[in-house]
Amino acid sequence: MSLSYVLEDLSEPYTIIVLPSGKTISFPDIFFATDSDSLYCRDNLPQDILWIENDEEWQGERFPVFYADAEFTYSTDEVLIWDLVGVLFFCLSRWEESLNYTRDRYDRFIDENSFLVKQSIHLYPIVDYCELYLRSLFDRHGLIVDTVRQYELVSTHDVDIHRYFRNSWSFLSVALGDLIHRKNIAYAWWTLTRGISHAIRGTDDPWDTDRYMLEEDRARGATSIYYYIPCKKKNSGASYHISDDIIQKEMEMLGAQDAVIGVHPSLSTYRDPAQLSQEVTDLRNVLDMDVHESRQHFLQWIAPDTIEALEQVNIKIDSSLHFRKYPGYRCGTSVIFPLWNSLQRRASTVYERPLLFMDQNFHLHPSGASTVYEQIQLIIKRTKVVSGNFVMLWHNSSFNHPEWKEYQKYFTLILQHAA
Ligand SMILES: [Zn+2]
Repeated sequence: MSLSYVLEDLSEPYTIIVLPSGKTISFPDIFFATDSDSLYCRDNLPQDILWIENDEEWQGERFPVFYADAEFTYSTDEVLIWDLVGVLFFCLSRWEESLNYTRDRYDRFIDENSFLVKQSIHLYPIVDYCELYLRSLFDRHGLIVDTVRQYELVSTHDVDIHRYFRNSWSFLSVALGDLIHRKNIAYAWWTLTRGISHAIRGTDDPWDTDRYMLEEDRARGATSIYYYIPCKKKNSGASYHISDDIIQKEMEMLGAQDAVIGVHPSLSTYRDPAQLSQEVTDLRNVLDMDVHESRQHFLQWIAPDTIEALEQVNIKIDSSLHFRKYPGYRCGTSVIFPLWNSLQRRASTVYERPLLFMDQNFHLHPSGASTVYEQIQLIIKRTKVVSGNFVMLWHNSSFNHPEWKEYQKYFTLILQHAA
């Protein structure tokens, strides 16, 4: 909502919004009422959910908020009994993730530690609903605010492994890996048959799918973003060099068709500003143009380290924040917003475009593919209502292999639904 306003500190445990018509809205200060030195602690996490009921304009959709005080009253025209600012700050700043929770083996915040997941409210764009709700209160009291945003479908692709067969005879070592490491005879047989056909008859590589994904994206009016890893060394996660001829030609082809090329910083760069800077510079040099978009490989991300590192290298938009197992709104929003630099207590120069769904959800979600697909449809519906961005991730390597046989149809189904 783009509105000009004047902020006045009353040093009272509540906030009052005064509209141009003279009408007033009040709500309690619960989160920021705590001593500012101990804001970010487990005692200050929200506890209970309060459901906000709505009229027919919302088609009966209610939404959850927290930091409520049932006793709060004030003599204003509208009284909210929940801390609007506390809710927005909790969702957007991600301060909860800097608490000392156990992290996974790649040092990532674990989905189940999220308050939103614990309360099963991660399928609600809470921040965006708060905005709609506030807008309807403003409207009721004579302040009409136009929506300046439009719904957008953003289809993104992380290029981790560029091709299934690195050369004509690499299928032999891949098949051996299927047998020894993955202990999967069916995979090994598939690799052998596809590999022989690729080597002898020159059939396409199963993961040569970038052009196909681009065409599907374009047919649904999606913005396409491809993220490339600029570092090929042991444990970096990449299987290619960005300076390889085939990669450069591919990036040129994608760029010529209006796809955006972003950087996919390799493993461990999320807290290594020097390495991150090197990789962003390398990609900029290869492309001979600026690169503003970034997503961390493996979605490794920690505040404020990753934010500071991205700021230093002048990245404008990150898109790493996503629950790994669950489709949903990790930041409570589908709208691009400035990240919070807690070290310097200011809005970051880096914006976040939250990722709402990725192909791996189908493998990782405990309830199976049909539940995931139902949830994605709900997320798309809600994201359209709030004129947000439905941001999805589908890897070029999530096709054709038996591991993806059951799920690959969802790529086009989701695009169709989200168009
Ligand atoms: Zn990756």
